[in-house]
Amino acid sequence: MAFEGLTSRLQNVFSKLRGKGKVSEEDVTAAMREVRLALLEADVNFKVVKDFVSKVKEKAIGKEVMDSFTPGMVIIDIVNKEMTELMGGSQAKLVKSNKPPTVIMMAGLQGAGKTTTSGKLAKLLQKQNSRPLLVAGDIYRPAAIKQLEVLGEQINVPVFSLGDKTSPVEIAKQGLQHAKDNGHDYVIIDTAGRLHVDEELMEELKQIHSVVNPDEVLLVVDAMTGQDAVNVAESFNQQLTLTGVVLTKLDGDTRGGAALSVKAVTGCPIKFAALGEKIDALEPFHPERMASRILG
Ligand code: GDP
Repeated sequence: MAFEGLTSRLQNVFSKLRGKGKVSEEDVTAAMREVRLALLEADVNFKVVKDFVSKVKEKAIGKEVMDSFTPGMVIIDIVNKEMTELMGGSQAKLVKSNKPPTVIMMAGLQGAGKTTTSGKLAKLLQKQNSRPLLVAGDIYRPAAIKQLEVLGEQINVPVFSLGDKTSPVEIAKQGLQHAKDNGHDYVIIDTAGRLHVDEELMEELKQIHSVVNPDEVLLVVDAMTGQDAVNVAESFNQQLTLTGVVLTKLDGDTRGGAALSVKAVTGCPIKFAALGEKIDALEPFHPERMASRILG
């Protein structure tokens, strides 16, 4: 289960606060020290933790809270609200172009879950009565094209492919044209990943970007990799201007660092959360629900 360590540590801190009829400034400071450690241990970005704790403290230390009937509960509520804000506040929805098709470009490192997520997203859109087209642009990872074709077949969504000998830029261009010619309202372009962020990858993505002019550039990152995922998001965002992040593998025992840091560090909202390998294991990301889940 995700966030297990963080949740139990925070619950510990909160149960101490909740038990108190009166809360002193020292109590708040002590509790925030523990919250700070719990967040750092969960691999949340250092600066994000610092800002978060100081915001909560600023709101919690004051006559209004201290004199309230249940100060502990009020402080927990403050933490909940600030954590929701940290993850973007409200749900960041997928953009819909008023000139269809809406073009969604998927990006990410190899193994992050990009191809799987492309299929899941197609399924989600299909459930909303849309007609997505998947474009197989990952010509480098062996079997990525086949994998997308199998996913497409499974959900009955067509997959546009030109094999692995045509350049990803050309595939994206022709894929978009195919979507237009065949009345698709969404086109999801699976691009090639690499093992690391490198110049060649970025150059290729930039070229695809300039050819298809996407409405959405979604970066798929593996939540299990914590701060690495955040660093990857930062590098991609500097080069490509992302419109959203998809956090995958939230069904694993991820500590929370990626979920809690990525919006604050990159300014880019988390739009979807993937919670398993199955085709329907993708959900729109709700900061409020995620905060409640983390707080237990
Ligand atoms: P790509 O290289 O980024 O296209 O990665 P893939 O889509 O092939 O995914 C890599 C591996 O991660 C595959 O085995 C997927 O089944 C798995 N995977 C993707 N998303 C999730 C997820 O949300 N949870 C879990 N547990 N596994 C996932």
